[in-house]
Amino acid sequence: MLLLYSMKKFGQYVSTFILVILIGVSAYFIYQKTLSPCEKPLEYSIGQFDTQFGISQSDFKFYIIESGSVWEKVLDKKFFIYNPNADFKINLIYDERQLATVQKQKTDFGLSMVEDIFKKLDAEFNIFKSQYDQKVSAYEQNLALYKKGNLSNAEIQQLNKMAYELNKETSQLNALLKERNLKAVEYNKIAQSYNKKYGHGLEFNQAEYTDKEINVYQFGNRKDLILALTHELGHALGMDHVENPKSIMHFLTGANTEVSLTPSAEDLAELKRVCKM
Ligand SMILES: [Zn+2]
Repeated sequence: MLLLYSMKKFGQYVSTFILVILIGVSAYFIYQKTLSPCEKPLEYSIGQFDTQFGISQSDFKFYIIESGSVWEKVLDKKFFIYNPNADFKINLIYDERQLATVQKQKTDFGLSMVEDIFKKLDAEFNIFKSQYDQKVSAYEQNLALYKKGNLSNAEIQQLNKMAYELNKETSQLNALLKERNLKAVEYNKIAQSYNKKYGHGLEFNQAEYTDKEINVYQFGNRKDLILALTHELGHALGMDHVENPKSIMHFLTGANTEVSLTPSAEDLAELKRVCKM
């Protein structure tokens, strides 16, 4: 999904590029188009609204305001303004196929398990590698002294012991690297087949953001809906996904009920980055 996300982003760049070429004539217009909501509030209206979810349109509007304010409160700035005539639409779309997709998504969660294992191995490898590098440089310093003839017999014995241990650690390091790389291959394979199957990535199931709209397809409860809207409004601000799974902008936010509506440190850093703070 990370791969997919960057492809999606690439697609956005391409379409923005084409748009710029096509319009070309009005620099002002293009300037207006490229302003992020940090600089100029994004005006939105409610587009398609299916009543099967059991909430009213005014409730929905209220939830959008609440979601937007999660980001607005941080910088004490208005990012999103309701305007019934705005081109940017926020849609609530009822689609049974989405519910079926969510079920499939849950069974396919082997993907996040493999990702967790890979990250653990990667961290282990990096820790081992930095300790190993330190030992290598200590060894090399002593070796230089030895070559100058500056070491006592006891120190030479010590140096031989270091070399012996380093050799052992080199094979350990290589084994760790091999294990880590195997897991990476496995992860990429599963992620690829997942993306092939679902095309739009994991978050599509619940909600998605495009340049023109936000679509919400599915939610369990009020908090779930606000979280999905807050995540997609974050994308509308220009925010990318962040690593910490407890973040609003984590790519699996919708599937994680542990996420609170308070932005994590990673969310805040990303918001400040896009708003150039
Ligand atoms: Zn997202």
